[in-house]
Amino acid sequence: MNRQALDELKQQIPLLDYLRAHDWRPAKPLRGGRWMGLCPLHTDHKPSFLVDPGKNLFYCYGCGRGGDVIRFAELHHHVRFPQALTLLRQWRGLAPLHQQVADFYRMQLHRHGEAVAYLHQRGVRSPELIEHMQIGYAPTTGKAA
Ligand SMILES: [Zn+2]
Repeated sequence: MNRQALDELKQQIPLLDYLRAHDWRPAKPLRGGRWMGLCPLHTDHKPSFLVDPGKNLFYCYGCGRGGDVIRFAELHHHVRFPQALTLLRQWRGLAPLHQQVADFYRMQLHRHGEAVAYLHQRGVRSPELIEHMQIGYAPTTGKAA
């Protein structure tokens, strides 16, 4: 895989989308559209994991690790570079489906007052944050996703 193909792959996989698909939750918005959250790479008790969606990069002030989406896949899945690329390509193939599911649940959320009430109870009040986290709501299971 050449440099250009690598760049293309990275462009097609926004780090933030990939993180969210791996259960990472942005906890605190920072200036410049950046986010802090708990680090998925070490046992973190206060948010030390910085994500810059504009640059598509992450850095953890706790464990000192950082990089791009490929580096994250390596660290998160404990694989080497070539396997990380394979995982990311597979994930990219499934991403449109993930997006449809996320959109569906987000739509449901706005239709269901009780879901919003539930989020408020849990301390999630900012509409921007709810939108940004793409918090979904599945009425059939009665659980917030
Ligand atoms: Zn860390």
